[in-house]
Amino acid sequence: MSMSARHITIIGGGLAGALLATLLAQRGWAVDVYEKRGDPRVHGYAGGRSINLALAERGRHALRQANVDDAVMAKAVMMRGRFVHPLHGEPGLQRYGRDDSEVIWSVSRGELNIALLDAAQAAGARLHFDHGLERVDFDAGLAHFRQADGVGTARPFHALVGADGAGSALRGQMAPHVALNERTEWLDHGYKELEIPPTADGDFRIEPNALHIWPRGHYMCIALPNDERTFTVTLFMPHGGEYPCFELVKTADQAQALFERDFADALPLIPNLRRDYEANPTGMLATLYLDRWHLDGRAVLIGDAAHAMVPFHGQGMNCAFEDCVALANHLGGQDSLEDAFAAFEAQRKPDAEAIQQMALENYIEMRDKVDDSAFLLQRQLELA
Ligand code: FAD
Repeated sequence: MSMSARHITIIGGGLAGALLATLLAQRGWAVDVYEKRGDPRVHGYAGGRSINLALAERGRHALRQANVDDAVMAKAVMMRGRFVHPLHGEPGLQRYGRDDSEVIWSVSRGELNIALLDAAQAAGARLHFDHGLERVDFDAGLAHFRQADGVGTARPFHALVGADGAGSALRGQMAPHVALNERTEWLDHGYKELEIPPTADGDFRIEPNALHIWPRGHYMCIALPNDERTFTVTLFMPHGGEYPCFELVKTADQAQALFERDFADALPLIPNLRRDYEANPTGMLATLYLDRWHLDGRAVLIGDAAHAMVPFHGQGMNCAFEDCVALANHLGGQDSLEDAFAAFEAQRKPDAEAIQQMALENYIEMRDKVDDSAFLLQRQLELA
């Protein structure tokens, strides 16, 4: 590819956008990143999604390619396995592997995003915050952005990468030009985040090196550790139907009653349950399917913009990071952008679809099967 063709405009400076910017800038590409939100290093991180995430080997492999693994791992908390809290019976750890070489890691979304933005900038990528993509004129090669102060601006582009998440504006702009056949399957379950603070001595209140699960059949709580010795608890519960569901557990009193009944051992750990339950939003979950991920050599989608998934395998970000490595490699190895985008789609779409399916299946396992003694026996036999 000619040097003039080695310019990429990335929409979204979240997890995938910042990692791809780093990888490409390190390989000599001219990279511009346009991010709708402000710079989290100046204004603090404005999340909106989960506070922490499970980082697995797939994701770490990608971080190593960009030389950011050490910075991220310095603040990561190891999770050796699932620590299951059944309704009746003793809580206990089910290891993910035979020893600590097979573990996953809990990382803060905000800290991870900042580490990746720092790396992208150090590699030479130009970061433009407070620029939300609104419209793309593919014929003129112009991307139109709205800045935080309301002023509109148009920037020329050679090729666009949509790393702008599940609600991707770029995807919407590609739709009239290519048969994406977009389908969103909403899960009839949502989530609410709560917090387990540290003890008065500043320590973790429960076993730190585990992903805690309180399985309860049609609903569950999980908790992931944070390096400041808190845990982020996520309650997953149906929308509608029988009790408990978000429509029947609306108020602080109703949340208190649910936890007294079904999460009695977790309740004393969450002193601000009542306040957080009412203040924190209820998140929606969906799987996004597309027939195509690219518009010839002019635009391509990665991460959640291409294949958002439900979070029950903890693989959405890990999969998005794998996309970044794959796209950077294809951009280095193909003669044209169109060939690179097509090869990327051909490689990654089947993998992403397989992980999307596994993520849907794992919800049933996590909420319903992890404390099932017959299931556990079978699992132990599988691991033996
Ligand atoms: P995002 O992280 O959504 O980033 C998109 C970026 O684009 C944002 O910075 C946004 O501000 C910006 N943007 C949006 N619109 C525009 C626009 N118009 N113009 C410019 N910029 C724009 N994954 C895991 O691997 N492990 C987990 O444990 C895990 N847990 C999860 C828990 C929950 C509750 C949820 C909801 C998801 C979880 N995920 C997990 C999935 C993970 O959050 C996503 O897969 C990941 O964030 C995808 O990264 P992304 O960069 O593609 O999108």
